[in-house]
Amino acid sequence: MTIPEMQWAQVVEQKGGPPVYKQIPVGKPGPDEILVKIRYTGVCHTDLHAMKGDWPLPVKLPLVGGHEGAGVVVAKGDLVTGFEIGDHAGIKWLNGSCLSCEFCKQADEPLCPHASLSGYTVDGTFQQYAVAKASHASNLPKEVPLDAVAPILCAGITVYKGLKESGVRPGQTVAIVGAGGGLGSLALQYAKAMGLRTISIDGGDEKKAMCEKLGSEAYIDFKTSNDVVADVKAATPEGLGAHAVILLAVAEKPFQQATEYVRSRGTVVAIGMPAGAYLRSPVFNTVVRMINIKGSYVGNRQDGVEAVDFFARGLINAPFKTAPLEELPRIFELMEQGQIAGRYVLEVPHLPIRTEY
Ligand code: NAD
Ligand code: ZN
Repeated sequence: MTIPEMQWAQVVEQKGGPPVYKQIPVGKPGPDEILVKIRYTGVCHTDLHAMKGDWPLPVKLPLVGGHEGAGVVVAKGDLVTGFEIGDHAGIKWLNGSCLSCEFCKQADEPLCPHASLSGYTVDGTFQQYAVAKASHASNLPKEVPLDAVAPILCAGITVYKGLKESGVRPGQTVAIVGAGGGLGSLALQYAKAMGLRTISIDGGDEKKAMCEKLGSEAYIDFKTSNDVVADVKAATPEGLGAHAVILLAVAEKPFQQATEYVRSRGTVVAIGMPAGAYLRSPVFNTVVRMINIKGSYVGNRQDGVEAVDFFARGLINAPFKTAPLEELPRIFELMEQGQIAGRYVLEVPHLPIRTEY
C-alpha cells in the first residue's frame, strides 16, 4: 500500500494561533511506532490551552494539535507486536513514555519525566496521518464506531481515572463541575455505569437538558445561582455535601469553592487546568472535616483499556457533534465561549488522496 508523502493538517504556527489548514509531510513511524490514518479526532479543551500557551510547560511549534484520534494502522515499525496493518487504533494524550523509570514501572506512565504528549510535545491527530508509540496506542475493537470512541481516548479515560481516584463507592454522590462540557458529559456516563449518583454544575439550559438526559439527579447553574455552595449541598443526601467533587471546569472559581460543599471525609479531585489557577481551601475546615484534595492526570495504559471496554460494552453514550477537520478554528471559538454541550469530533477527510485504505 502506498502512503502519500504529503497530507492535510491543522497547524498552529505561533502562540495564540489560529490553526492554519495546510499541507505538510506525512510522518514516518520509528521501529516501535505505528502510523495511523486518522478518521476522527475529538477536540479537547487541552488543545485550546496548548494553542494559547496557557500552561507552564513549553509547547512544540509549529504544532499539530489533537490527542483523541481514532483510525486505521497503515504502517508499523519492525519492533511493533501489538498491532497489525488494518487494525483500528486510538492515539491518546500520552503518546509515549520511557517504560523504564520508577513511575512507568509502577504503571504511573503519565508521571514519566520523559513522556511525549500528542498534540503538545509531538504532533497529534489534527492531521490525516499521525504517529504514536505502539506501547501506548489503544487497540480499538473493529465493531466500535470510530467517531463516537474518539472522545473516550482522552476525555473518557481521564474522567474514568478521576472517578476511581476519588475513592467513591457505588451509591455515593459525586458533584461534576463542568458537567456540560466534553469531559463532564462523559463523567456523567462513567459515573452512572459505576453505580454512582451525580449532581451537575455548569451554565445554561442546553447543558442542563443534556446533563439531565445523561442521568444527573440535579443541575446547578453557576451563571444564575445566588449560592452555588448552598445549592450543591441542598441537592446531596441529607444536605451533607457530595462524597466527591470532580473539577473539570475551565474557570478558577469552582476550584476555590469545592471544599465548601464536599462532604466531611470527602475527596476533591482537580482535573481541569484553567490558566494560572490556584486551589484554595480553609485550613481549619480541611483539618476538622478531614477533606482530601488531589489531582488526577489522564490514565495509565490499563485505565485506557478499561475505559474503552466500558464504551465497547455500550455503557457510555455521551452526545457529540461532528464537523470537518477544516473547521477547527470555528470549534475553538465555540469552545472559548463555553458554547459546546458535550464534545466536538472532527471528521478527517481522505479524498481525493489516491491510496484510500
Ligand atoms: P470543555 O470546554 O468541553 O468543558 C468545560 C466546561 O466547564 C464547560 O461546559 C464550561 O461551561 C464549564 N465551566 C466554565 N466555568 C464554570 C464554572 N464556574 N462552574 C462550572 N462549570 C464551568 O472542556 P473539556 O475538554 O471538558 O476540558 C475541561 C478541562 O479539563 C480543561 O482545562 C482541560 O485542559 C482539562 N483536562 C485535563 C485532563 C487531565 O488529565 N487532568 C485531561 C483532559 C482535559
Ligand atoms: Zn484531552
